[in-house]
Amino acid sequence: MADYDYDVLFIGAGPGGYVGAIRAAQAGLKTACVEARETLGGTCLNVGCIPSKALLHGSELFEEAAGGTLAKYGIKTGKVELDLAKMQAEKDDAVKGLTGGIEYLFKKNKVDWIKGYATFKDAGTVEVAGKAYTARDIVIATGSSVTPLPGVEVDNDKGIVVDSTGALALDRVPNHLVVIGGGVIGLELGSVWRRLGAKVTVVEFLDQLLPGMDGDIRKEAARIFKKQGMALKLSTKVTGVSVKGKTATLTVEPSAGGAAETIEADCVLVAIGRRPNVTGLGLENIGLELNGRGQIETDHDFATKVDGVWAVGDVIPGPMLAHKAEDEGIAVAENIAGLTGIVNHAVIPGVVYTMPEFAGVGLTEEAAREAGHEIKVGKFPMMANSRAKTNGEPDGFVKVIADAKTDRVLGAWMIASLAGTMVAQVAQAMEFGATSEDIAYTCHAHPTHSEAIKEAAMAVQGKPIHI
Ligand code: NAD
Repeated sequence: MADYDYDVLFIGAGPGGYVGAIRAAQAGLKTACVEARETLGGTCLNVGCIPSKALLHGSELFEEAAGGTLAKYGIKTGKVELDLAKMQAEKDDAVKGLTGGIEYLFKKNKVDWIKGYATFKDAGTVEVAGKAYTARDIVIATGSSVTPLPGVEVDNDKGIVVDSTGALALDRVPNHLVVIGGGVIGLELGSVWRRLGAKVTVVEFLDQLLPGMDGDIRKEAARIFKKQGMALKLSTKVTGVSVKGKTATLTVEPSAGGAAETIEADCVLVAIGRRPNVTGLGLENIGLELNGRGQIETDHDFATKVDGVWAVGDVIPGPMLAHKAEDEGIAVAENIAGLTGIVNHAVIPGVVYTMPEFAGVGLTEEAAREAGHEIKVGKFPMMANSRAKTNGEPDGFVKVIADAKTDRVLGAWMIASLAGTMVAQVAQAMEFGATSEDIAYTCHAHPTHSEAIKEAAMAVQGKPIHI
């Protein structure tokens, strides 16, 4: 039997790679993880989920204090001022704590961190910083990076045309921020800077925000973000951005073609999607080809076509979400260890962490119909949920989609201040094959936002109580 340095080596220490490496080590495998960044945790912990949530939380507190929500409850704050440097320092602290935590977990589980970029020499060997490492199994978990917009140059250091990394590190509140792309990143980071005082314009190519979410949710998202003061230019494409001094001029035109116009801004955020990180991996050295979307294809076990080479997370098809990558990391480690690792890709929740939050799991109404399901839909507005109403959070609703014949829940979509937390119960119910009746007859604590899920499930049978 061949002699290897490691049983398994993960390339990339984002949620797919670091979680997979820990699980592999737990399963008794000699494990290494290659990561070039100074800190572990990948995009999620360093320049994605975590820092954005720190700024979302901070900016929400600022808006509550400055915007009068606290005053409504008789809390007098005096003049509220923003110390952006402090808010940014708090964000950096959150990132430092969590990335350091992964380093601790690697040590605890005896996962070796090999620092540098890995390039395949053959299917069982990678070279990192001039040194070769062999492993019986190698997992590609290199994640993704920002998709560039042709003709638009991002310069995060200057802070005028930025991507999500730059938008997390601005040292000033822009006067006018134009966000290119009305997806998750655009709306989360657009919300941060709007709350802190920027005028925000979102330019979206499609006729609705939040592609991939249920149609009713997308329609309501446009209404809510407009009400919050964002300007939305839907069905509009950006054809160019030029920068002179501290001013950017965007040229936009209707997506379907038509007269061009210009918009001036002192900050432009390019957020039109992400693409898999495969450059420099030396995939040609192992004969691994990409699909038409630049992704690595795997089978259900996350094995690629090359023996001993596996892939998980944003480099393979599916939603580019940290929790999907984590679950795939665990599954691939278990498969390599000879156990059975499975991810149910039909039940991957998605959340937009604005206020209110937008969340969903399973099929949208449109996808359910397209798949040929005869469906029943139950809806319940947050306005009629006692807790949300009392908290002054009237926006949003819960929508449960069930198969008309079997009553099995096919999907659920929601807008609520706590939607990101609420959606977990539907995901779990769906994993157990729940019907809408199962959810409707599950006792939910009162008063909670989650009761809206129970009521929406009751509405599937036409029998909600509080509306
Ligand atoms: P996205 O795919 O969510 O949205 C990009 C948007 O840009 C789309 O609506 C698209 O129609 C639009 N667009 C594309 N080209 C355009 C153009 N030329 N002009 C105007 N609009 C254009 O991508 P994102 O927001 O950049 O996020 C990237 C990835 O990161 C996503 O896969 C997302 O799931 C993930 N992410 C997730 C979270 C979360 O789960 N909360 C947060 C941040 C990022």
